[in-house]
Amino acid sequence: MKINWSGFSKKTYPERLELLKDSIILSQELQEGLEKNENLSVQIADQLSENVLGTFSLPYSIVPEVLVNGQTYTVPYVTEEPSVVAAASFACKVISRAGGFTAQVHERQMIGQVALYQVPDREEARQVILSQKEELLKLANQAYPSIVKRGGGARDLRVEQFSGQTDFLVVYLHVDTQEAMGANMLNTMLEALKPRLENLSQGQSLMGILSNYATESLVTATCRIALRYLSPQNDQARELAEKIVLASHFAQADPYRAATHNKGIFNGIDALLIATGNDWRAIEAGAHAYASRDGLYRGLSLWTLDSEKEELIGEMTLPMPVATKGGSIGLNPRVVLSHELLGHPSAKELASIIVSMGLAQNFAALKALVGAGIQQGHMKLQAKSLALLAGAKEAEVPKLVEGLIAEKTFNLEKAKSILEILRS
Ligand code: NDP
Repeated sequence: MKINWSGFSKKTYPERLELLKDSIILSQELQEGLEKNENLSVQIADQLSENVLGTFSLPYSIVPEVLVNGQTYTVPYVTEEPSVVAAASFACKVISRAGGFTAQVHERQMIGQVALYQVPDREEARQVILSQKEELLKLANQAYPSIVKRGGGARDLRVEQFSGQTDFLVVYLHVDTQEAMGANMLNTMLEALKPRLENLSQGQSLMGILSNYATESLVTATCRIALRYLSPQNDQARELAEKIVLASHFAQADPYRAATHNKGIFNGIDALLIATGNDWRAIEAGAHAYASRDGLYRGLSLWTLDSEKEELIGEMTLPMPVATKGGSIGLNPRVVLSHELLGHPSAKELASIIVSMGLAQNFAALKALVGAGIQQGHMKLQAKSLALLAGAKEAEVPKLVEGLIAEKTFNLEKAKSILEILRS
């Protein structure tokens, strides 16, 4: 069924719930949970973490109609930052009209490492370990047989030497973790390899641990936006596209800009990682390492202009080893709802959607920055938070926001003084 999302952002909270109820069939449990705003229970939270005193909430939103590889998704977003959802919705509307995102999962394997030190002859040890590759892969798989039954398991092993304050011989294990992120799987396998590797190398093992630099889980998202979707006026559209290209060059050249450029990308990526119960610290660490892969920290996305076809092209590649099984997925009712809203994508599909959302968020940010500037739209939404902080009741918020916009001063003191005037 085609859902009519037009005007969704203008609807009230109960109207939005109603539209969702009429358009997306959820299980009775999930529907009731959504209506009651059911979150993680303290009992489950107490099992997940330590010293628990309660749970912590954040706004749960959706970005409707995101077209990735020909399929339309309703994308759940968890973020407290004003304007992020609005920007993503705007970008996805434009990009979906222009044909949507194309995403490619290059490979999906996780890498773990065992660091060996005090190895008497590192080159000889390297060769001995490589000569036993098949036996070592078998040993790793025996340590976690259930992933082999699911069609995954250890796939490859390589060895590298590092010289420095301490000389290391590092053994890398590549594992197909199927639908899981694989941290615990990898760690279990690596623990099992440690004694044998010590024996083969005649050295000591320092640690065996998953690496978050998931270079074997790269995902590329691209989009091609015909210039007419940027502005009805040809000149303006071309100028905007050219400036977006320049903005992406700026983020390639200057790490100060690259950090902020990538933060904007993660506004989208983290919102979806959190909503789907994924480890956002793991993905952030891997992506920032990838952004520095040639020695300089750079922007993750690149925009180019196809002058012949009159299209602005966005492209972004980063490691995205996300999971649809394992960890806390399945324990948090909100996370269960997210997977349901997305139509239960596989880990590869989910990774494709997430990288596409990062690119969408980047497009919206760059368009705003090189166009009207980010402050205008941003401050309007920020005014809402200021109104609430100043103590405005729900009915007072719109008038107070109007007042702040009219005064063009966005601070708490101003918000309080306008509220006082409104009340008197
Ligand atoms: P789990 O330890 O939860 O393992 C995955 C679970 O999913 C297993 O119980 C597995 O069952 C089950 N499963 C069900 N269906 C599938 C399927 N189709 N494919 C794969 N597994 C399936 O999670 P991970 O090993 O993925 O580890 C992720 C967790 O580790 C996250 O919570 C993360 O925060 C945390 N972590 C992260 C670290 C890092 O990033 N450096 C370090 C340490 C922890 P079965 O066992 O029967 O196969």
